[in-house]
Amino acid sequence: MDQIIDKTKPIMVTGASGYIANWIVKLLLDAGCTVHGTVRNLDNEKSVGPLNKIASTAANGTLKLFKADLLDKDSFDAAMQGCEVVIHTASPFIVRGFKDAQEALIRPAVEGTGNVLAAVNRTDSVKRVVLTSSVAAVMGDNADLTTNPRGCFTEEDWNFSSSVNHQPYSYSKFLAEKEAWKIHHGQSRWRLVTINPSMVAGPALTQSSASTSIDTLRKLGSGRLWPAVPKIHLGWVDVRDVAEAHLQAAFRPDAEGRHIVSNGEPSMLEITQMLKKHFDQGYLFPMFELPKVLLKWVAWIIDASVTPKFIQQNAGYPLAFDNSRSKQRLGLEYHDLEQTFVDHFQQLLDDGLVRRK
Ligand code: NAP
Repeated sequence: MDQIIDKTKPIMVTGASGYIANWIVKLLLDAGCTVHGTVRNLDNEKSVGPLNKIASTAANGTLKLFKADLLDKDSFDAAMQGCEVVIHTASPFIVRGFKDAQEALIRPAVEGTGNVLAAVNRTDSVKRVVLTSSVAAVMGDNADLTTNPRGCFTEEDWNFSSSVNHQPYSYSKFLAEKEAWKIHHGQSRWRLVTINPSMVAGPALTQSSASTSIDTLRKLGSGRLWPAVPKIHLGWVDVRDVAEAHLQAAFRPDAEGRHIVSNGEPSMLEITQMLKKHFDQGYLFPMFELPKVLLKWVAWIIDASVTPKFIQQNAGYPLAFDNSRSKQRLGLEYHDLEQTFVDHFQQLLDDGLVRRK
């Protein structure tokens, strides 16, 4: 059933300071919307500074910032007042540097989603919630594709292989999206639309994001993956396409359900080869792929988050996502993926985050 959204009403964006959310805020402001963005700390210049810059250079729109924390259960109410659309992006995207995955990832993702949607249930103006989920809610390990009857992951799939001990970030996204659908099914006023992006690349509007996807590209050029990379295929997509998908999900009268937003599944070496075409030999790009048997132990020694089980279930396996629903239902026209990586790498150079050897 069609649902008309009034674009003159404010739109709420949780975690407005994030890599993806910055672009969502920018597109909303450029479209003339009033945005109610939430951040954890209004005094943190690293979070708030880039947002104020986006607002000052945006064509139209107005940005109002509010303080809210995923684990503070009533903290989202003030920002939500008068909004018809809530875009919930806030969730930790980290894969290392924590001791307790339950506290660092799963609790904020799941409890936070519960807290935001409890506020939605209390706020009569809200008609639609757009949740930034992930392909991590759709699938866990690349090896899971071997038992998939369609030969590619679609919106019908759910991650069945992640746990608190294996791929806990993916598990946090699976649990959070499940929780969102459960809460959604308990009411009839608001509609839930999910955006399920793969790994996001492309220019950032902030330098302060802890997002793992930004860190991955940086590692490729900074020598941290020299001389060899694992043979691992990941889905990748441009951050600008992900932001556009959120806007379409927010405003299209017939938007509903899940949307895989992904634009190809290159291996790390294939990404390197794309970059090498555009940037000369002054960078410590990886040169070859490590054999799986060696990789299992070497990777773990270098990075404890890359466990032997992760390598066993992911290295060397092909990967495929079906993105047709995002094109048909959201009208997405994806950026050229090579250009995405080139734009992203150029920005890392401009910002001094990657240097020549
Ligand atoms: P990001 O730059 O690290 O943004 C994460 C955001 O979540 C930040 O604004 C952060 O706020 C907020 N946040 C984290 N913990 C919070 C808490 N306890 N309370 C309130 N806010 C909290 O990462 P991103 O890549 O933009 O990710 C945004 C969303 O996209 C996440 O839901 C992520 O799972 C999803 N996603 C990302 C990718 C990707 O490749 N980047 C792919 C698929 C899905 P602070 O600024 O205060 O830390």
